[in-house]
Amino acid sequence: MPEGDTLHRTAAGLRPYLLGRDVIAARAQGPGAVPQVQRIVGRRIDEVEAQGKNLLLRFDGGLEIRTHLRMNGSWHRYRPGERWRRPPARARLVIEVAGSVAVCFDAPVVELFEQRAERLHPSLARLGPDLLDPEFDATEALRRLRDPLRAGAEVGVALVNQRALAGIGNVYKNEVLWLERVSPFVTLASLGDETVDRLIATARRLMLANISVHAGAERVTTSGDRGAAGPLYVYGRGGRPCRRCGTPIVAARQGTDLPRTTYWCPTCQGPRP
Ligand SMILES: [Zn+2]
Repeated sequence: MPEGDTLHRTAAGLRPYLLGRDVIAARAQGPGAVPQVQRIVGRRIDEVEAQGKNLLLRFDGGLEIRTHLRMNGSWHRYRPGERWRRPPARARLVIEVAGSVAVCFDAPVVELFEQRAERLHPSLARLGPDLLDPEFDATEALRRLRDPLRAGAEVGVALVNQRALAGIGNVYKNEVLWLERVSPFVTLASLGDETVDRLIATARRLMLANISVHAGAERVTTSGDRGAAGPLYVYGRGGRPCRRCGTPIVAARQGTDLPRTTYWCPTCQGPRP
């Protein structure tokens, strides 16, 4: 599924084709399609930005489009007339500019709003600091994770909460906790600031290493060390031996709002309480 690094790569891949260009045609279709999307026709694309797991397009005149790709969505860029790699019926949003067609497939969220409403937007205003932002604010990230409302949250749940830290998804959550030998099931309150800072720094390091990889590349966290044969340390490796100690990796659902599969080593990180 798209994580923050994927979105940043997508934004970087689209920018050369979209920035500064005027929208020639635009259409939206599918559930919750935005008929007002015609309002961007004739507008210049001023910004293409990844924010957490959102891809934002900002237009001159103050309009903004948000797409959230959730599990299956993706943005593609084609030359005019080029054959699309996904069925046209699955295109949620199509934006044409000179020389390029940008198509957003399968995104459950496509919204058009006024940029000045962004800070009031329920999904954007409350996002935590973006791990891939060059001006990432680690102090603010720590402060948000330390919010008393989150003290009782299991760290494996808190790390994927985009309101504390934006951009991290389930793959990185599992990899970071394994690298730092922290059990996904301990509460944030039980961890010292030093440990939480380390989790934040490791998440950022892994994600930054992946953003530099060319678009569409496989996500890799292992960088070939620790005798790792595959691209990931622990994610998706349930039942297989821990790359550090050989103990079989355990997988379990974690979280109530949006349960996700957590993978961990019961020896390196501790058993589930
Ligand atoms: Zn282990």
